Amino acid sequence: MSMRDKFDREITYLRVSITDRCNLRCRYCMPEEGVCKLAHQDILRYEEITEIVEMAAELGIRKVRVTGGEPLVRLGCPELCGQIAAIPGIEEVVITTNGVLLEQQARALKDAGVRRVNVSLDTMDSDKYKTITGGGDIQKVLRGIEAARQVGMTPIKINTVLIGGFNDNEIPDFVEMTREQPVELRFIELMPMGPGAEFGDSAYLPGQTVLDRVPELKPLPGDGGVARLYQLPGAAGRVGLISPLSRHFCGSCNRLRLTAEGALKPCLHSSQEIPLRGLHGAALREAMENAIWAKPKMHGALDAHHSSEAGRNMNTIGG
Ligand code: SAM
Ligand code: SF4
Repeated sequence: MSMRDKFDREITYLRVSITDRCNLRCRYCMPEEGVCKLAHQDILRYEEITEIVEMAAELGIRKVRVTGGEPLVRLGCPELCGQIAAIPGIEEVVITTNGVLLEQQARALKDAGVRRVNVSLDTMDSDKYKTITGGGDIQKVLRGIEAARQVGMTPIKINTVLIGGFNDNEIPDFVEMTREQPVELRFIELMPMGPGAEFGDSAYLPGQTVLDRVPELKPLPGDGGVARLYQLPGAAGRVGLISPLSRHFCGSCNRLRLTAEGALKPCLHSSQEIPLRGLHGAALREAMENAIWAKPKMHGALDAHHSSEAGRNMNTIGG
């Protein structure tokens, strides 16, 4: 079965935030003073998540991304990934992580059937990493990336949020990394959400900045994802630009998002949410079909002066 929305987009991709908790405090994502953590009983249990994913698969979802908060802080994350991977119709399970706990869990994730991993890394400098993440240790992340490579969760994607005045001076070094390493380095435009909405005009850099700073990058054909792809001549890896502000991709959006407490979001930048908790069988199916049908054509304006209408911080949605 496949599901198309009102605008004839086929919906095949579900992002599942399995916790709002995190072992880092990225300045654009979570307030430094911490957040009101959801109580355990307010978070979907794993069997509730798999029930929802089973229904999603019946409706045409093929790919699931496990995210958070930080997914690896929730006990049993690899087991959950294995249960999701075993659901008929689910062809691909991937994960987005800050990488801090990846060294310990890479093998279990791979064995559970997680194909690939996206690791978030906004700077290569250990002091700047500490600053932007509220105290994180970059060495753990680098060891995590290496562990993922060793177990074969490749190609590894590295997500770097472009922040003017913070990491734009590192663009050439980041790109240079792809010459030898077979990674996909994805520069993501900072989105005006939560604390990220307070960063000021100069923090918002368009993806084009990367092409201006590294003119040797040559375009590659798209792979069906949201990133525009580029490569240095002869490089082992490639560079992706994800530009939700300067070149939104709503026209080809194929995704839904499930929050940690069980609300289905048809659009990241809309406050509309369809609560799924407690629904089963036909009622669950109907609510999910309604969510797909409710997907807006596109999100509202997003820039330094127009904040996302998501109505939540990113750690409760998962990116
Ligand atoms: N904790 C995991 C991680 O950091 O990869 C998964 C959840 S995190 C919310 C998912 C992604 O969202 C990360 O790559 C993060 O950098 C990105 N993100 C968070 N807030 C953002 C914002 N305001 N603009 C752009 N990206 C953001
Ligand atoms: Fe945590 Fe990821 Fe948000 Fe950073 S971006 S605070 S690692 S959830």
